[in-house]
Amino acid sequence: MHVPVTDLVGHPGATRELRRAVEVAAFGEDPWTPAEGAVEDPVDLDLHLDSVVEGILVRGRVRARIERPCGRCLEPCPDDREVEVAELFVDPTRREEGEEADPGYELIDDLTAIDLTTMVRDALLVDLPVRVLCAEDCRGLCPVCGANRNLDDCGHDPEPAADPRWAVLAELDLRDEA
Ligand SMILES: [Zn+2]
Ligand SMILES: [Zn+2]
Repeated sequence: MHVPVTDLVGHPGATRELRRAVEVAAFGEDPWTPAEGAVEDPVDLDLHLDSVVEGILVRGRVRARIERPCGRCLEPCPDDREVEVAELFVDPTRREEGEEADPGYELIDDLTAIDLTTMVRDALLVDLPVRVLCAEDCRGLCPVCGANRNLDDCGHDPEPAADPRWAVLAELDLRDEA
């Protein structure tokens, strides 16, 4: 998602607000690994763009709802994320000769724009919990009939007690039989 910054570049001290509700698709072809399809429209940007000598400083908040299925019962679990960001998009022409290229963000398109895609994606997805649970005590799906055990008591016992007939065998130490 490219944002023009020609009004800011080369004018240290100049500042601009960027408040926008952006469609997920505006960030390109699914950059959302590992949460593809889970980021809902819109992504809310509430950012300040400050022109500094080194480039453009982007600060503010990124908000979006990420909806993924519960790992036990598969019900959708909405997660309203709101993350603070602060990133410097540097002017690559100001780099000293021989200075190592910074792997961070840069002004692009001949210093006319910044690309917020990676910043927004990282803000929303870094620290996203790997494990999704609708509730800590989610009872999950019944392994016998597939019912959502939070909603229905299907009557099946998910962890059948060990069959007492096998208990005798379990007590035998078979190594001594050889
Ligand atoms: Zn669940
Ligand atoms: Zn069942």
